[in-house]
Amino acid sequence: MNPVEETKKYFFYLNELGLNYIPVDKTLRKLLQNNIYLAENNLEKIKNALANCERCTLYRVRKQSIWGEGNIDSKLMLISEYPDREEDFYGKPFVGITGELLDKMLKSIKLTRKDFFITHAVKCKTPGGRPPELEEISACKTYLLKQIKFIKPKLILALGFTPPKIFFTNNPTFSSIRGKLIKLKNFTILFTYHPNYMLKNPAVKRLVWEDLQKFRKLYEQIFENS
Ligand code: SF4
Repeated sequence: MNPVEETKKYFFYLNELGLNYIPVDKTLRKLLQNNIYLAENNLEKIKNALANCERCTLYRVRKQSIWGEGNIDSKLMLISEYPDREEDFYGKPFVGITGELLDKMLKSIKLTRKDFFITHAVKCKTPGGRPPELEEISACKTYLLKQIKFIKPKLILALGFTPPKIFFTNNPTFSSIRGKLIKLKNFTILFTYHPNYMLKNPAVKRLVWEDLQKFRKLYEQIFENS
């Protein structure tokens, strides 16, 4: 039984009985609207829900929520952390110096942005660029999970400390999962450092390079030897 569909049917039934107003408070109404949007079996509707999302307080500081960009038919996905100020301004992931570094990272494994659908774990920028809080991640993760459900990637490259918080409830340390090819449901995911972190901590460049080689190797196994 789908609870959203059942709720909708119940509302239609009440409407048939002549009730055309349900006195719910503002928060519950917003929640119902968002969940009904997200239950729709259509990427465009989810995209629209995201554009108008107020599921957490980050909507107050963003210029825009960011859907992502790239090839939605691709079986490769790249997940970043959360938009920075520049990304929020331009409405797309990886702009400026961080984007240049990402391009170099991908080039080192003979890939480009066009090979991926690229998005963020959390879709709105945060005040002062602070990491998103757990309740913000929890409110937002439905969008990323829906994107994964529709795009059906086989291989995901996840950059930074925020993406693991979407996929693991037991809060593993970053060092315990970084650089491992982890099979989750229908895809394999590799977590490594974000280019922003690399810019501030050049010592991790070597680790990222090693992680990318693992990613490339699995990419070849999946896509070139099949
Ligand atoms: S961060 Fe996510 S949940 Fe929060 S307002 Fe933005 S899109 Fe909605």
